[in-house]
Amino acid sequence: MKKIYMDHNATTPLHPEALDAMLPFLKDNFGNPSSIHWAGRGVKKYIDEAREKAADLLNADPSEIVFTGGGSEGDNLAIKGVVNVLKKKSNHIITTQVEHPAVLTTCQYMEKRGCKVTYLPVDHDGMIDLDDLRDSITKKTVLISIMYANNETGTLFPIKEVGEIAADNGIVFHTDAVQAVGKIPVDVKDLNVDLLSLSGHKLYGPKGIGCLYVKEGRSLVPLIHGGHQEGGRRAGTENIPGIVGLGKACEIANRDMESQLKHIAKLRDRLYKGVIDKLDHVKLNGHPVNRIPNTLNLSFEFIEGESLLLNLDLEGIAVSSGSACTSGSLKPSHVLTAMDITPEIAQGSLRFSLGLGNTEEDVEYVLGVLPEIVNRLRSMSPLYSSRKSESG
Ligand SMILES: *Cc1c(COP(=O)(O)O)cnc(C)c1O
Repeated sequence: MKKIYMDHNATTPLHPEALDAMLPFLKDNFGNPSSIHWAGRGVKKYIDEAREKAADLLNADPSEIVFTGGGSEGDNLAIKGVVNVLKKKSNHIITTQVEHPAVLTTCQYMEKRGCKVTYLPVDHDGMIDLDDLRDSITKKTVLISIMYANNETGTLFPIKEVGEIAADNGIVFHTDAVQAVGKIPVDVKDLNVDLLSLSGHKLYGPKGIGCLYVKEGRSLVPLIHGGHQEGGRRAGTENIPGIVGLGKACEIANRDMESQLKHIAKLRDRLYKGVIDKLDHVKLNGHPVNRIPNTLNLSFEFIEGESLLLNLDLEGIAVSSGSACTSGSLKPSHVLTAMDITPEIAQGSLRFSLGLGNTEEDVEYVLGVLPEIVNRLRSMSPLYSSRKSESG
């Protein structure tokens, strides 16, 4: 059976060049970089190189990169690490209703620890209103944490403007850029961010590794206490294969991003056009323009995204309904709900997220099987037949 992977916002395959770079560190080059003998001595150099590559991709200084155990850890470190240094009088965090659970549940945890959290609403396109942000700032606001690109809809937030507002008010600004890095150019200096998290496996690197950019001079309380690794900001013997793989993935993103993203955007737009040419009652979820180039979130009215997903899976097509983290639960996505999309329409949503391996043939294959599945499911749907009898 043909296998088509269009779920790159959930995870990406490891880039072959990243795998090759990692292999020596899973074999002979096993030393602990903290050791001063021959086995460990040479290893530190590779961590330094990877740190430079990650820094290059973000236009940061290598000293500003802290390797973490992935995107979720980076988000936790940013939020808990900043808010832990606070005094009682600055305990207010501003975030949005549509963050990834790594930020949302961390903020909920901080609320239990005595913080106040403002969850900014979004409009029908999933966009925040900067006036809402300005209005929510109080004397107690210590941190703004707003994602760069939404993982479900791809909507891009105006991070540069948020950074200016944060800087004007002397507030620390963190952005979860896991879905933006590698898909659009990200420059921490231009963006005015203090903290930015990214994840290896969303970027054709390995899983269980990521990094947090920490602007020079920003102090953070570590999550993990122990040895002196990562400048005292993240203890534990380094995940060398992961770090090297992430470094390689960052280097590749820097090198190839421009050409490949044009290609991916073209495929995504072709898919969208094909779907709306062949089917009625399909709605685009997310901002029509300000969106990362690989993501297409569509609602197919009158049917369940979950059944659509299962039927596409039978044809070898991997996509996602709602977000990967909430699949398996029948609750409509918190992102679509925040966008004031009705539960019925949210339930019919499907996320296509394209990536490096996808081809024009993949898109044509999906366009070949999807309409038939949608029509079949609709023909069995009581919602669809009652609607037809109403209008006819
Ligand atoms: C995947 C993802 C994360 C979590 O990253 P992990 O490396 O899987 O922990 C955080 N934020 C966003 C927006 C994501 O898409």
